[in-house]
Amino acid sequence: MAGLQAEHRVTIVGAGLGGALLSNYLACSGATIGVYERRPDPRQAGFIGGRSINLAISARGIDGLRRIGLEDEIMPLALPMAGRMIHAPDGDLSYQPYDKDPARCINSISRGGLNQALVEAAERNANVRFHFARRCERVDLDRPAVTFEDESGGRSEVVSDLVIGADGAFSAVRDALRVHGRFDYSQDYLPHGYKELRIPPGRDGGFQMEPRALHIWPRGGYMMIALPNPDFSFTCTLFLPLVGPNGFDQLTGDEAVLAFFERTFRDAIPLMPDLLEDFRDNPTGNLVTIRCNPWHVGNRVALLGDASHAVVPFYGQGMNAAFEDVVALSSVLQELWPGASALRVYSRSRKRNADAIADLALRNFVEMRDHTGSALFRWQKWGERMLHKFVPGYLPLYTMVSFTTIPYADAVARERRQNRWVAGVLGVAGVIVLVLLVLLLYRLLSAA
Ligand SMILES: Cc1cc2nc3c(=O)[nH]c(=O)nc-3n(C[C@H](O)[C@H](O)[C@H](O)COP(=O)(O)OP(=O)(O)OC[C@H]3O[C@@H](n4cnc5c(N)ncnc54)[C@H](O)[C@@H]3O)c2cc1C
Repeated sequence: MAGLQAEHRVTIVGAGLGGALLSNYLACSGATIGVYERRPDPRQAGFIGGRSINLAISARGIDGLRRIGLEDEIMPLALPMAGRMIHAPDGDLSYQPYDKDPARCINSISRGGLNQALVEAAERNANVRFHFARRCERVDLDRPAVTFEDESGGRSEVVSDLVIGADGAFSAVRDALRVHGRFDYSQDYLPHGYKELRIPPGRDGGFQMEPRALHIWPRGGYMMIALPNPDFSFTCTLFLPLVGPNGFDQLTGDEAVLAFFERTFRDAIPLMPDLLEDFRDNPTGNLVTIRCNPWHVGNRVALLGDASHAVVPFYGQGMNAAFEDVVALSSVLQELWPGASALRVYSRSRKRNADAIADLALRNFVEMRDHTGSALFRWQKWGERMLHKFVPGYLPLYTMVSFTTIPYADAVARERRQNRWVAGVLGVAGVIVLVLLVLLLYRLLSAA
């Protein structure tokens, strides 16, 4: 019989966002689901970050929650952001809505809170069990079996029918696929890194800036952004080159940091009383794009989320894409698996979309840091909103990516078609205006 059944055993490596959501999806099959996570249980140890404190969840992520009835439980934890608030170097603010419909928002949510809610929802199923502080050390792709190491160095092997690598950008399961052979792999670091800082609540206990917006300080070549939190604070992320002018390597002491902020993010300084302490204490993270192919071996092992496609965070889509992987994978597991082609169907259908969002995310970094502050960008976005409002079928790329579930690769192809069409219409309009001007000139000259 096709489909995951109660007699099957599934091992999910990684109880991050993708792994925890997948365990919820697979629970209804009745299969025995073991989720193994390197970190200790955050409910006992406190959430250990290392990645962003909060992230933006949009249509694709929400769709992943909705399909298994978790939207109503989880989305009240999120804060809607309806547009970008641009902070100019002189402190001037300008607001750019994300869509023609002001009700369409992306949403700021706590990574730790979301992760915990997903784990707790999955644990309501008797057939799902989480094992924390168990690090995947080795994967035998044939049986398939995973060796885990616990905190005291003890090792245990878990044999199952299916292993899913949801263990993030530096996946141990993916390493086993690399060694297995005939596996394409690339890892590209950006020359920029990131550091998280904080804008606490104001003296009155409320937000110090507009909470319904994603704040951007675009400075050309580098930038800072801020997302609101339910405790009335904002988490800021500073993206700078790792070395060179305006780079992290130049900001070696309190004086240098303060001078840099005074020169570049002056309006943020009074909002950040702990700036110097945060800058000193918080680590500088790397930004990497990872691509690989295929995402599976036979019908026994598959990858999802950052393990198969880590993208840079500038479109706010890494987790959203991971949630789409979960929906696609669980659908082939329920309908086609253990058929020989099941995991290939999943891998092929998702790979083209993962490549598309990886490219878009890189492109959006340039747009956010270099263009969002310019008048040309504001006009372009206004033009897109007008076309969206008055031309049936026209959808701006940002709308397709953030507010629909149109596959990423299809959204990119549609944007190209739309751009050709707009260029064609503008070209014809230009010719008409030119002809009219020539006629007008001719009449004026003949009358003279
Ligand atoms: C600064 C920043 C901002 C971001 N902002 C956004 C955003 O706004 N919107 C968005 O959609 N995405 C965002 N992302 C991307 C998002 O964080 C990831 O795409 C998402 O977390 C992927 O989920 P995952 O489950 O694949 O990986 P992860 O969430 O990284 O989970 C992997 C899990 O596997 C565990 N693990 C790792 N190795 C092992 C091992 N050997 N054994 C056992 N367990 C292991 C890890 O501890 C972790 O819990 C951002 C990323 C960064 C860095």
